[in-house]
Amino acid sequence: MVKWKVKAIQVGTINSNMSGVLHYIGEYRPVVLPIWIVAATDGKNKVLIDTGIDDLASVVAGPEPNCRQEKEEETLTALKKMMGWEPEEVNFIINTHLHFDHCGCNKYFKNARICVQKKEWESAHHPISSTAFLYYRPFFDKNAVPYFQWQFVEGETELMPGLAVIPTPGHTEGHQSVLINTEEGVLCVAGDIVTIADNINRNIEANIVVDAAKVYESFVRIRDRARLILPGHEFSVKNGAESGFPLID
Ligand SMILES: [Zn+2]
Repeated sequence: MVKWKVKAIQVGTINSNMSGVLHYIGEYRPVVLPIWIVAATDGKNKVLIDTGIDDLASVVAGPEPNCRQEKEEETLTALKKMMGWEPEEVNFIINTHLHFDHCGCNKYFKNARICVQKKEWESAHHPISSTAFLYYRPFFDKNAVPYFQWQFVEGETELMPGLAVIPTPGHTEGHQSVLINTEEGVLCVAGDIVTIADNINRNIEANIVVDAAKVYESFVRIRDRARLILPGHEFSVKNGAESGFPLID
């Protein structure tokens, strides 16, 4: 089986507190949540999982006033610095979902196919009202990204040898997670179905949820399939990490 190399790249932060990411548990200790993207390669393909935010000012004025981003955290700058990759070299993007902090820079990767669950695309255009503000259309709609670049998948799909997506709904209706075969075992890049590792390891949903029952089904699916996890906003992972991701209990 093909083994992939991965790198976690921090492309911004969101100021929050523990009760903001572990369903209102009453711990108000402040936490700074990184926004992670992942660069992955099998030696041939250059793949990005999520693309972070674009245009910090519009994000702060819109969906997330507590978002921060240093210049060197801007996605294209960070990708060049950490991987030496130019945007045109990236041939494949996987969006775990289409919230503003996961797809903001899709538009800069002109040669990439962009994989998302068909259900996520549909619900991003017809979101339930409580999460509508998280779908920031200038980042993902047909005006931002040419339609031919999108690759809509339905359910579990092997994209390349050693690289697959599985449906993990709950945070959004069409959320997916990525399974990557690495030297240390299967790594799940979990997007926001697992916002921090405590969500899955303490079995507590995060706060932004459209279907709580599905969250717990998704946790089971991830536990069955992966050994390691990179949650979308895990704060115990170091910028540039290539190994040593949190274990799934
Ligand atoms: Zn999200």
